[in-house]
Amino acid sequence: MLTKVIEQSNIDHFTKWFERADKIVIVSHVSPDGDAIGSSLGLWHFLTSQDKNAYVIVPNAFPDFLKWMPGSKDILLYDHYKEFADQLIAEADVICCLDFNVLNRITNMADSVAASPARKILIDHHLHPGDFCRITISHPQISSTSELIFRLICRMGYFSDISKDAAACIYTGMMTDTGGFSFNSNSPEIYFIISELLSKGIDKDEIYRKVYNTYSECRLRLMGYVLTQMKVYEDHHSALLTLTIEEQNQFKYVKGDSEGFVNIPLSIKNVRFTCFLREDTEKNMIKISLRSVGDFPCNKVAAEYFNGGGHLNASGGEFYGTMEAAIARFEEALKAFEPLLKVKS
Ligand code: 5GP
Ligand code: MN
Repeated sequence: MLTKVIEQSNIDHFTKWFERADKIVIVSHVSPDGDAIGSSLGLWHFLTSQDKNAYVIVPNAFPDFLKWMPGSKDILLYDHYKEFADQLIAEADVICCLDFNVLNRITNMADSVAASPARKILIDHHLHPGDFCRITISHPQISSTSELIFRLICRMGYFSDISKDAAACIYTGMMTDTGGFSFNSNSPEIYFIISELLSKGIDKDEIYRKVYNTYSECRLRLMGYVLTQMKVYEDHHSALLTLTIEEQNQFKYVKGDSEGFVNIPLSIKNVRFTCFLREDTEKNMIKISLRSVGDFPCNKVAAEYFNGGGHLNASGGEFYGTMEAAIARFEEALKAFEPLLKVKS
């Protein structure tokens, strides 16, 4: 049995909407990751099985390693089909906002979603949920939005209607947001849920291979290169990876090629905090990714030094300036957080 994480009043409220709704739009954050796509498609499969007219709309493209997911071909990319998507958003009975906490995380779609008269529900696990939905289901202690979707469907009484395809999507989101169950994954209930998903016939080993073992040769060589350039700050138990545009061109970089790089230095003994700085041509800025293990709050570093935020152990932000200046900013942060970083483990 699972603990009743989601409040009963929220379950009852959403169930009422669900029973009356016909057109349901599911939206998730920009540059969707495994949990954004997994939770959205998990819910989409369920809603479709209940004869709802459901659509998943995300701001922009998602990585190739998620394109095997059942239903992924039906996802609407807002930056490609703006007009059609705007119409769906405007005419929806219910809009489900998944895996993001504030409207600016859906960038180009934010205005349409804000303006829609639809009933809105937020289902998310990021800290500090904004107040833009009538129902807010926000549980930062839960490791993925996909897990919340599983819990929601079960609490509504529809476990038996979760299909193998829905289960595969939910599992993918749970797996990717915990780094293959290697962080934020000590809750015993996660494994109870996995056993329930396995009972639907999913092949979790195959899902792992489809998500993680799909590197291109260029990506693997880029990874090798970036790691040889790594800077380790031994005293601060920290490491820094960088990637300039010049280097991206050298390795025929395509979007998503550096996904997950930020986690790699955490495999060095005693490294507890890592940073990855990537020059972004599209947005003319440096994208920051931060990761930590234990109780070091990398979201504080993101918020205080890089105009960002996120979770305790996984956060990010942006920097406008040169790579040299971004590195200097990171080193400033290391100094400021020295008391927390230098403690012996
Ligand atoms: P990633 O490093 O995978 O891009 O992001 C990890 C997490 O950091 C995301 O799930 C999100 O919670 C947070 N994050 C990343 N970039 C930003 C940003 O620019 N602003 C804020 N507020 N959070 C971000
Ligand atoms: Mn998530």
